This record gives sequence, C-alpha cells and structure tokens, in this order.
Amino acid sequence: MENRPTLLAAKKKREIGKFNKSHTKSRRHFVRDLFLKTPKYIPLFDNSYIKRYYFNMNLKFLGRGAGFNPVEGSTSAYFIDNNEMFLIDCGESIFKTVMEKKLLDSVSALNVLITHTHMDHIGSLGTLILYGSVVKKLPVKIITDKNMGFLSKLNVFLIEIAGLTEKMYSLADVSEYEGKYSSFSKVSYFKTKHCDEVESCGILFETDCGMLIYSGDLYDPAPIMEIINDCDKSTKKIDKMYIDSNNDIKPNLHHISIHILKDMLSPELKSKVYCMHVNSNQCIEEALAYGFNVVELG
Ligand SMILES: [Zn+2]
Ligand SMILES: [Zn+2]
Repeated sequence: MENRPTLLAAKKKREIGKFNKSHTKSRRHFVRDLFLKTPKYIPLFDNSYIKRYYFNMNLKFLGRGAGFNPVEGSTSAYFIDNNEMFLIDCGESIFKTVMEKKLLDSVSALNVLITHTHMDHIGSLGTLILYGSVVKKLPVKIITDKNMGFLSKLNVFLIEIAGLTEKMYSLADVSEYEGKYSSFSKVSYFKTKHCDEVESCGILFETDCGMLIYSGDLYDPAPIMEIINDCDKSTKKIDKMYIDSNNDIKPNLHHISIHILKDMLSPELKSKVYCMHVNSNQCIEEALAYGFNVVELG
C-alpha cells in the first residue's frame, strides 16, 4: 500500500493538471475572442496598415470515395472550431471512422452539414446522432438553410425510419453560425444539380483566406462558376474548391468529369481544386496530372 505523502503528492499533481487544462482553455478562448474583434486591417500612424494574422481553413477528410468506390470510404470532411466538431455529410463508412478516431471524445458539440440524402452521404447519420446525443450527451445540430429542398425528407428519414426522436438533434439556421467561429465568418448552402431523384446542395464558407467551396455531388458546374464570377467582380477571392470528381470520358449524368473541368479553369484556379468523391485510382492519377490536388485522408 502506498504511503500517505505519496497519495497526497499524486492528488496535488492531479489538481494542478486540472487547473492547467482549464486555464489553457480559457486563455485560448480569450485570444480567439480578441482576434474576432480585431479588424482585418490594422491602420498604422503613417497611413499604411498591416494585415492581422489570418486563419487558414482546411478540411480533414474521413473518406474520399464515390458511392460505388467504398475502398476510399464515403466522402466526408470535418474540422473542429471552438471545441465543436463540424462534420460535412455522414455516409455509410463515416460513423466507424469517427469512432476509430475518437472524434467525439473531446468535443463539446456536434454540428452536421448535409449536402443531399444519398446513402453515401447520410448512411450512418442516424447512428452518429444517436451515439452523439445519447451516449456522449452532446448537443447535436444539423445546420440548415432555405436552399435545402431535401430537409423535410431528411427529417422524415431520421425520425420515422432511423428511429431518432426530436430531443436527439435540432435544426439550426446558418445565420446562427455567423461571426462566431475562427475558421469561417459565414456559411451557406447553394443549390446544385446532381440527379432527378434527390435535391442537392453545395456548401460555401467565407473565410479569412477567401471562399471555400464544397461542391457536394453535382454534374453541372454552373453554380461553382457563378461563385467564381461573383468573386471576380468583387474583392472576394477563391481559397479552395473541394470538387466531386469523376474520370468518365462519356458525359456523366451525376458527377463532374475532370476531363471537362480542366478546360473550364485557369491554371491558378486549377491549383485551388481539391478532388474528392473519386471513382477510381485512375481518376486520382489523372486529376494530379491535370494539375488538380486530390484530398488526402487525415
Ligand atoms: Zn455521393
Ligand atoms: Zn449523390
């Protein structure tokens, strides 16, 4: 049996550890809050100005495969901000990956963005919400906006088919997320064309480094070209474009062909494309050869 001084020393060490942890967290939040209140351009006495530090938003991918390419996992990405997890889509393989990475073990909330209701995008959403709310006791929110034509069907799926209750998650309008996080100042959905059977959306984040576009699944690049044109006409710029990619030679009725996309973008914009939802290894090789990036799992 350990003697009393050793036990007391161990108790004290634990208490110091707890204090340091909470202290570090509050200091981090203080710095973040101060940053959010700081203007992007700080004027100096000689009429010049300096830019403050910019947060660069990067998505981490849990899977990057197309619906029929399960080897690469269902395409889904996440980031953590303010100790809250933001997850984009939750297809068949994603709950397993979230568990393996213990991603819900240390966050204080789960916010989910959904692009459409194909199973490679919502196949394990019911299980994730159930686990997040009931086991982990996290507030779970689905981030929504008016462009989500599939939202009522998603609710029916979660409540009437997946067996969830309304206490397990809530719907939160995109406006609730404006100006509150370090990674992005605003988030919104834009309508896309993917297939006749389901409505679909892409996601647009406004960040310190420019627009971050997440295409979701789509065959018609028009909404992305529209965002690019809007940026050209304003002071906004494109930071990154995560694009659903396919290497079919013949016209594809559901996804963008990289053979077509390569001719639509300038070399500068091509370097900002990150291919995801890839249908094969050959697609990855061809995308890289065209000067696109391909998302890495991480
Ligand atoms: Zn898909
Ligand atoms: Zn789809």
